This record gives sequence, structure tokens and C-alpha cells, in this order.
Amino acid sequence: MSSADLFARAQLVIPGGVNSPVRSFGSVGGIPYFVERAEGPYVYDADGRRYIDYVQSYGPGILGHAHPKVVEAVTNAAAAGTTYGAPTEAEVVLAEMVIDRVAGLESVRFVSSGTEATMSAIRLARGATGRDRIVKFAGCYHGHADALLAAGGSGVANQGLSGCDGVTDGAVADTVVAPYNRVPELDDTVAGVIVEPVAANMGLVAPAPGFLEGLRTACDAAGALLVFDEVITGFRLASGGAAEHFDVTPDLWCFGKVIGGGLPVGAFGGRWNVMEHLAPLGGVYQAGTLSGNPLAMAAGRATLELLDEGAHARLADTATRLADGLARAFADAGLASVLPRVGPLLGVFFGPTEPTNFDEAKVLAENGIYPKVFHALLERGVALAPGAYEALFPSLAHDDEVIEATISAAAEAAASVPVA
Ligand SMILES: *Cc1c(COP(=O)(O)O)cnc(C)c1O
Repeated sequence: MSSADLFARAQLVIPGGVNSPVRSFGSVGGIPYFVERAEGPYVYDADGRRYIDYVQSYGPGILGHAHPKVVEAVTNAAAAGTTYGAPTEAEVVLAEMVIDRVAGLESVRFVSSGTEATMSAIRLARGATGRDRIVKFAGCYHGHADALLAAGGSGVANQGLSGCDGVTDGAVADTVVAPYNRVPELDDTVAGVIVEPVAANMGLVAPAPGFLEGLRTACDAAGALLVFDEVITGFRLASGGAAEHFDVTPDLWCFGKVIGGGLPVGAFGGRWNVMEHLAPLGGVYQAGTLSGNPLAMAAGRATLELLDEGAHARLADTATRLADGLARAFADAGLASVLPRVGPLLGVFFGPTEPTNFDEAKVLAENGIYPKVFHALLERGVALAPGAYEALFPSLAHDDEVIEATISAAAEAAASVPVA
């Protein structure tokens, strides 16, 4: 059955035909491709087309799709039972691996999504400090928990929503939204400041020099906890994530995406004197039927094991070549673009200058060029995310040949887009 037929069928039984809004192509127009299978850098759709995939499930696919070692680990785990409701060695092993990689992280709890990780970290920050308010930054996306849906990037921005129906004023009453890249003033009502250390859900916006350090200092002065949402940066920016890359240590970390190797996993963690507030040690309740799921732990372990010494440097190299090549291809076609890059992370904006916050990012994301380039690229076998607020996710499976093919496709695609 074709993607068009599947989408028609899907819309009869699933709201918008999708289980996560950005997949609907709502902000780029057209019909989403339905994926049949994927391998390495490629996804194959229901119409028999192959795409070089820069979505990679929005981050989990750091090794590329269906890495044989990950598939084997998951298969073996499944044969031993898929969930028990009792602890397993696999959870201990993955926790040890995470703590080993992330300096300052002493204790970690697994959940099943990034949303659960941030939601739980916020509850913990409030419980540990006895304070109510949370500061977040406009354009940062921290999943879809009520308290964090104020001024969210990514899917929220792609839908053209400034907030979200169904979220009560009460639920966001203790959420303060500040502009990214400016250190807010904090007082003793603030439990925590949550931040994407590299903002990767408003396109890609790098932290200005001193911003993360400034947050650390401001949190220390106010007695608030600094929460790094490393759902995208974790295990991608460096083995120790953004904390290692920028040498700024938060009080709490949130992980997702890479940590699950393509299975539903999130995690949050921190120092013992914060984590000990969690049940069963302390009074902050948090739980999950499928938390620490054996398949998910196996996929996460296999993925982290495959991220060897040189992996992050290789990824950064790939991202650099991709960014440079795309910038050249777009420029040759007279299309002004900026491709912000931080290590292996990269984004694309069509416009003259690199944005430093959500307001600036919005201007470029909404200028109408991204959907045109997106479709021109898709026609030529290259899949970017169907939304201008998403980052690109080259994987370790994107070799030189794949990057060159992408850049050639981009040159053709850009030439086909009318310059305003
Ligand atoms: C994706 C994302 C989340 C939410 O993770 P889910 O697994 O989709 O719930 C939270 N924070 C950041 C920074 C993300 O990119």
C-alpha cells in the first residue's frame, strides 16, 4: 500500500494520521512518507523509495538504523522475556555505563521517554529544594509535560502553537520563561533552571560564550538546581555530553534518544544528595511499569558500547563536512543560509545571520524557504526533518559517499528553489 493510501487510512483511526504531530508534514505540506524499513543512513518508504535519512528518529539513531549489534542485543533480550516488573542486571550495567561517562553524575533512574525524564527531574528539583518555580527558556523543548509546554520549540513551534490547549494556567503558573542566551535573575523561589545546553529544537542555537557558566553561577547564588536537558546532547556532543563539552556541571541531567539506542528510554540523574529525595529513599514519587525495560536496556548498552573513543570526533567531522557542503551548495544557487554547528550537532536556517534565541530563530524558520528546500531535497532522495525547527542528525553510518550524495542533491535542490 502506498504512503498516500496509508496516510488516508491512518487519518481515519489516528488523529492527524500520526502519533507525534511533526510527522504529519503539517508545517511543510504534502503527504508523509510511510517507512517500511531502514538500514544505516537510509530509510525506505512504502512506495519503494530510498532516502538518505537525517531525521534518524530525531536523535536516537547515532549509529544509523538497524545496527546489527543493536538488533542482536534486542533480539537476545526479547528471547529472555520482554518485561518482568523486577530489577535486572541490565539496568545496573547501563546505569554504571552512564555514570562512568558523565562526570559528576552519581545516580541515575531510567524511565521510558525524554518527557518522563524532564517531568521527573522537575518534580525532583521541586521536592529537593522545597521551592515551586521553574525557569525555562523560550524555544527549548523539554517534552510534553504540562509544566514545560510553555513557549516550547520543536513540535510545538512546528504546529504554530504558542502554548497548548488543555494546559491549565495553574499547571504553568510556576513556570517562568526567559529568552535563551541571557542569564535570568533568580530568587529564592526558584527550584531549578532547565536548559538545553545546545538548543536543538528551534533549529540549532548554540549557547553564547558564558551563558551556561552564567547559569551555573546564578543557580549557585540562588540555591536553585541547574538541570541540563541532555536528551539530544547526551552521548552525542561528547561521551560525557554537553557537561563535558562545555565543562559546566549541572545538578541534574535528563537523557533520552541516544541512551535508548532506538528503544523507548529516558533517564534522569544527578548527585546523591539530590537523587536521595526520590522514592523509595525519599518523598518524591516516580515510577514506571516499563522503566528499565530489558529490551531498552540492551539497546542502550549496545549503542553506548559502540560509541568508541573516536566516535564523537568522527561524527563532528561528518557534521562539519555536511555543514560546509550544504552551505556551499545553497550559496551557489543564490540561497542565503547559515548552518550552525556545535560538534556533531548541526542545524540549517535560510537567511543571512545565525539566530541566538527563539525570536530570531522564528523569523528564519517561518520565512517559507525551508518547506521548499525540504521538498526539493525529498524528491532527490534526502530526508530532512519535516519542520524548520528541527536539527539534522547525521549518524556514524553517514560515510563520505553519503555526505557527497547529499551535497550533490542539495545543489540540485537549491537550484530548483526560486530565490525570492
Ligand atoms: C525529544 C526531546 C525531549 C522529549 O523526549 P521524548 O522522548 O520525545 O519524550 C525532551 N527534551 C529534549 C531536548 C528533546 O529533544
